[in-house]
Amino acid sequence: MFFFEMLEIDRILRQLRSMYGSVSEELRGWNWSNDILSPPLDGICLGVSEIANRYCSTYKDIYLRRVLSVPAPYSYKTVRGWIYHAICKGVVERAKSRLYGHGLMSGSKLYSMLLADMHDLVSKVFDEHGVSRHVNEQDLRKLKWEAESLYSFLALQAAAKLDRTLSKMQKLDLESAISRIIPVDVERTVNGQLLGLSGDLRVDMLADKRIVVEIKTGDLRDFHKYSVVGYALAVEADLEIPIDYGIVSYIHVDENGYVKIRNKIYFIGDELRREFIEIRDEAFNVIMRGVDPGKPPQCPEYCIYYGVCN
Ligand code: SF4
Repeated sequence: MFFFEMLEIDRILRQLRSMYGSVSEELRGWNWSNDILSPPLDGICLGVSEIANRYCSTYKDIYLRRVLSVPAPYSYKTVRGWIYHAICKGVVERAKSRLYGHGLMSGSKLYSMLLADMHDLVSKVFDEHGVSRHVNEQDLRKLKWEAESLYSFLALQAAAKLDRTLSKMQKLDLESAISRIIPVDVERTVNGQLLGLSGDLRVDMLADKRIVVEIKTGDLRDFHKYSVVGYALAVEADLEIPIDYGIVSYIHVDENGYVKIRNKIYFIGDELRREFIEIRDEAFNVIMRGVDPGKPPQCPEYCIYYGVCN
């Protein structure tokens, strides 16, 4: 994404590798058939976020969704997550298509072109997600304003990255310039079924063909790291390319319209892989037992099922 400086990321990745070493072959996703990685039950496929988002330590959320078929209620934060994701994807796609369509240009020209598309894209995103059905009028206005703030921030980052990249290239070649400006695939679909994960997982971003990126729009939680572990295993199982790193990118638009981004970078080593697989197996156990696992001593109010259980 435009807000990743690959040189900076490279430096951090090298540090992580020197601290943590390498990944055991038996824990690579492509070894999905071994005793550690193969799913405990055939025919059930869970989403990575279902497994990773461990708001509930007793896994009652899994019981509710998968045994009792109680869908997770929508909240303002859920809708905001959809919108931010769609805006990030939309700006990346439009920046690429403008560059492919019109060729290399100055950053200011790209910025003007992207800004001209803003209202069209934001309206499309809101229509496609049926936002007006899920939030009240006041929240709708707030979300639209946040979406436009995020859009123009990303458009400006794209323009700046274009200028920076072109200023360093001796020979201007469209294909290699675009791959430096936007070194990510957005919403890459991968099949995680061999690991008991969903068949059409969408990885928010696959950067540089070696880093999975998960975008988060809420508060920082330690268990978010398991999302990038799950996607890394799925990419390895499906595409057979090693993924050693994950970035959880927290995006927030504050009340003044300033966009704040905080990236947490993880080395997806043996320990995290084993922890993710343990959580996956426990989720499968809850489904196989089909018995209410009960509530934890205290339910966090930000749990999506809070209103259902309490
Ligand atoms: S509200 Fe409590 S019991 Fe229900 S899913 Fe959330 S954490 Fe678990």
